Amino acid sequence: MAMIIDGKRIADEIREEVRVEVAALKASKGIVPGLAVVLVGDDPASDVYVRMKGKACEELGLHSVTDRLPASTTEAALLKRVAELNADPAIHGILVQMPLPKHINEARVIEAIDPVKDVDGFHPVNVGKLIIGEDTLRPCTPAGVQELLLRSNIDPAGMHVVVVGRSNIVGKPVASILMQKQKGANAIVTIAHTGAKDLRPYLVSADILIAAIGRPESIRGEDLKTGVVVIDVGISRVDDATAKKGYRLVGDVHFASASTVASAITPVPGGVGPMTIAMLMKNTLKACRWKSG
Ligand code: NAP
Repeated sequence: MAMIIDGKRIADEIREEVRVEVAALKASKGIVPGLAVVLVGDDPASDVYVRMKGKACEELGLHSVTDRLPASTTEAALLKRVAELNADPAIHGILVQMPLPKHINEARVIEAIDPVKDVDGFHPVNVGKLIIGEDTLRPCTPAGVQELLLRSNIDPAGMHVVVVGRSNIVGKPVASILMQKQKGANAIVTIAHTGAKDLRPYLVSADILIAAIGRPESIRGEDLKTGVVVIDVGISRVDDATAKKGYRLVGDVHFASASTVASAITPVPGGVGPMTIAMLMKNTLKACRWKSG
């Protein structure tokens, strides 16, 4: 049976490291890292994420500001708010919760955030720096995937990493991170997507499989190589009459079949999920350190 990669434990470890560093920064320089989260509209899932981010700041000693703006907020008003946060010295990280209402151009909003405060790592300047291998603010979930591997003593160097999914928030950045000629990376990376007529030849060749497609339990153990490391980024709700809430959360990988062939695997929930906020806290601390020299 595969080793279960406990994302909750690893995320807690990172959060504790951030908490200690934040306290030290405050004690030595009187500086408190600050994160602003802007939520436009009342999407319930986004609301939960925003609350979790505020709570994490509180627990780790960061200053946090949460702006809840109505769904009718104009793009101009949102850009104005972003400009204010860019200029606010108490704020080191800015996160505008996606998705935004249809009448707001997401790319324009992302590009309005000062790249040194872009703790989501989505600004084109940070995307470019990531690709050319410069130190930068990296997207939280992909950076969390690398941490999960390294803190589980799995070095991707020289391994064939197959990333399934090419979104700008997961697939592309995780591939960019792991392909770098850097410590903790240096993998041979393949990105698969819907352009593949048959995914199986790619899946079976993976030493490390990173699934980020949003198709519940669509990748099965039968399609994988014995000993593969499985990092399942996908999170989907499936109906389950036996569950209290009437549904359960599953990943893109069929856990029961994959865990009989894999050497290590992340569960869903409790794998990649908890890493995102931990890495957001780490990015905010990093942005603050840059600002404060
Ligand atoms: P997305 O923007 O919908 O992108 C999905 C990608 O998967 C696309 O590139 C798509 O290919 C590809 N794809 C879809 N079906 C496929 C198939 N059958 N075969 C091969 N490729 C396929 O999704 P995302 O934002 O990257 O998120 C992916 C999953 O990760 C979702 O379940 C999401 O909830 C989860 N997620 C979790 C976290 C977290 O744990 N913190 C964070 C972010 C996302 P095309 O480009 O060809 O359409």
